[in-house]
Amino acid sequence: AAKAMGKNNVQVWTPEMSQRTAQRFTIESGLRHAIENGELEVYYQPIMHLATDKIAGMEALLRWEHPILGFVSPVEFIPIAEESKLIVSIGEWVLQQACRQAKLWQPRFGELFIAVNVSARQFRDPGFADNVERIVKETGCPPNVLELEVTETMLMSQTNETMAILNDLSGRGFQLSLDDFGTGYSSLAYLKRFPINKLKIDRSFVSDLPHDKDDAAIAQVIVSLSNHMQMRVVAEGIETLEQAHFLRELGCTYGQGFLFSQPLPVGRFEIFAEKNLGLRSTDHSISLA
Ligand code: C2E
Ligand code: MG
Ligand code: MG
Ligand code: MG
Repeated sequence: AAKAMGKNNVQVWTPEMSQRTAQRFTIESGLRHAIENGELEVYYQPIMHLATDKIAGMEALLRWEHPILGFVSPVEFIPIAEESKLIVSIGEWVLQQACRQAKLWQPRFGELFIAVNVSARQFRDPGFADNVERIVKETGCPPNVLELEVTETMLMSQTNETMAILNDLSGRGFQLSLDDFGTGYSSLAYLKRFPINKLKIDRSFVSDLPHDKDDAAIAQVIVSLSNHMQMRVVAEGIETLEQAHFLRELGCTYGQGFLFSQPLPVGRFEIFAEKNLGLRSTDHSISLA
């Protein structure tokens, strides 16, 4: 492509290109040893029950501190991990950490649900469901508190195979959640057939609420769709009280966002959870399932 664009162009864009390639290389080779070097850490972002303002669960979000680059965003390194297949071992490590933590927290906080992001490559890996089941058994995490977050884009290809994988996971007792809902290409017909337990309204539809009329309509439709189809619903990226109130009035069960808390390392999550626990007997993840 460089030659095809002519010599003049080469000079303009090559340095930038090679810088990006170098950065990519640094990330990929760094990721290869990130686990054993102890550079990865799982943070937990609280997910709140909007009607009571109590904590209902959390999402595990991966953090990486590279020795030279510093903190690298998962938005940058997850796609590289995905392309290089490193995501399979990294994803397994995240699941292990999250399930271990869920088990440790259970006596203290009750059965909060724990959502873990699953990438396309992991999801299609033939050993995935067995791996998840093994991790859940080894860690002693209750299977029904584990929620696997997948995206629409992942589900809408190879739909027969997808259906089999989802049914397998669901049959083993794991919850399935559709992340970033509304941004991909979902077919409502498949949404009806797939065993999805929860929809997550993407942040892009939440950020301009309640003033943006289109976003308000979209949020309303997603909430009503979930409620009618026996799915639970989470709004992502809630940053203001107005947004939280608006979504609660729509009938949105759960909310996640900086209004409540940023993703937190274990110690700080524990402090937050202690302050925001509901009655342990009214367990949202079970009673609303
Ligand atoms: P996601 O799964 O949609 O996660 C939510 C993202 O929104 C997180 O970004 C979170 O920090 C951010 N967020 C939450 N509340 C707010 C808010 O009120 N305002 C704003 N502006 N942002 C908010 P993060 O942690 O940077 O992760 C980005 C994406 O990287 C995730 O999006 C997910 O797709 C991916 N990711 C993160 N950890 C993992 C992992 O362990 N495995 C896989 N496969 N992907 C992961
Ligand atoms: Mg997610
Ligand atoms: Mg999301
Ligand atoms: Mg999102």
